[in-house]
Amino acid sequence: MTQSENLKKFEAWIFKQSAYTMALAILNFDKTTIAPVAGNPYRDKRMAYLAGEHFSIMVDPEMVKVLKELKEDETLDGDTKRAVELYYKGVMDTVCIPKEEYVQMRELFNRAYDAWLEAKNKDEYSIFEPYLKEIIETKRKVYGYRNSDLPLYDQMLDDYEPGMNQEKFDTFFSAIKERLVPLIQKVQEAKQIDDSFLHQTYPIDKQKEFMDSLLKYLHFDETWGYQNETEHPFTTWVCENDCRTTTKYILNNVSSAILSTVHEVGHATYEHDIDDKYDGMILSEGVSSGMHESQSRLMENYLGRTLPFWEANFPKLQEVFPEQFKDVTAEDFVKAINLSEPSFIRTEADELTYPLHVLIRYEIEKGLFNGTISTEGLNETWKKMYKEYLGVDVPNDRVGILQDVHWSDGSFGYFPTYALGSAFAAQFMIKMREDMDVDEALRSGHYEKCVAWLKENIHKYGCRYSADEIMMKATGKPFDVNAYIDYLEDKYTKLYNL
Ligand code: ZN
Repeated sequence: MTQSENLKKFEAWIFKQSAYTMALAILNFDKTTIAPVAGNPYRDKRMAYLAGEHFSIMVDPEMVKVLKELKEDETLDGDTKRAVELYYKGVMDTVCIPKEEYVQMRELFNRAYDAWLEAKNKDEYSIFEPYLKEIIETKRKVYGYRNSDLPLYDQMLDDYEPGMNQEKFDTFFSAIKERLVPLIQKVQEAKQIDDSFLHQTYPIDKQKEFMDSLLKYLHFDETWGYQNETEHPFTTWVCENDCRTTTKYILNNVSSAILSTVHEVGHATYEHDIDDKYDGMILSEGVSSGMHESQSRLMENYLGRTLPFWEANFPKLQEVFPEQFKDVTAEDFVKAINLSEPSFIRTEADELTYPLHVLIRYEIEKGLFNGTISTEGLNETWKKMYKEYLGVDVPNDRVGILQDVHWSDGSFGYFPTYALGSAFAAQFMIKMREDMDVDEALRSGHYEKCVAWLKENIHKYGCRYSADEIMMKATGKPFDVNAYIDYLEDKYTKLYNL
């Protein structure tokens, strides 16, 4: 076929696929936010069927041929070449799986989500354990079809963060462990910060009132963005210019919904700001999970937990909760939301202990796929590791092994990118501060100036370049974990007068 015939087919194929991914995204958003649970068994089967139809389009033998030809075509422009390479890898990793097994796997994920939620609500790991076991077996089998020489868990890590593997993550996490564990200890021995005012009663309708104002400050525009509530906050990119985020309100924790919102808006803004010329193509996505998380954690921690950010937003918070914040200043508030204390819940962990929550999951996942850890009694293994790494006694499985949704849809290899993203963000932040007056922008209500920097240096590229290339373009340096650890050391040394 000629190049133009191939490209025409390529475009039509992308369009068709995007219709299915859009439908599935909206169904999933609906399922995990507002859909009545009694509809789950019926809904889950239909969603799996649709995923199967999408699968068939993706692995269409004619398209495999077209992609192969395009891949060898030296005359393609750079954008198309990169898109073809990414699609080709996706198709090759999928085409080897028998469709029936793929559909079964998708159905299993849907059922496992339901079981996870039930297990979490009832605080019974035993409800979820058989599903977890089945998911691991299924993943093992499905990855087996790829016939890769790489260890299984390396393949999973590479799917979320191309170029990463256990060796590199081991180095990354050992640097974190080596320098942060002693620092956490020092912080624990220092004079503690009082954050009790964050845990008074904060009526949810009032929290929502503040949220409206915060979303405006963040330039989360309702013409392309929408926020809902869920058990486990996440962001879904439904289609171009339609991004759904979620948050979770907690009655006696005012900062939880706020910080999770800033985080999710970070994900949403990244997707929204990708260059329009990539619309409808694979390039119009965040390049890797680590890069995505770098954008959400940059906004949450490196902007959203700073004093200038709260100099702009605290007056409104005080206006909404005059009683609760009667004797509290913006400085007190910022100190309190930065308090470091080993705890059970990853998403609510402070910046300093956060990477250790991730490290625990990384080691468990490694063990599950290398055969040294089993799903049986994993809730107890979990507790032991929390005691060892963070010194806390996890009281139950709800705040232990059942807290995260990720394993219910087989997202193994995803967790480590959370810590990696935090580390990417440290390096981006150094450069952003060199290029512009970040504090002044935050303080004066011009958050959009920070967003503009991120768009120009990171967001606009989408998947056009790899995460490594974007790091080089944006900062002029390769990734280095020390920027992250230096930042944490500096921040917590000052905060706790160490
Ligand atoms: Zn995130």
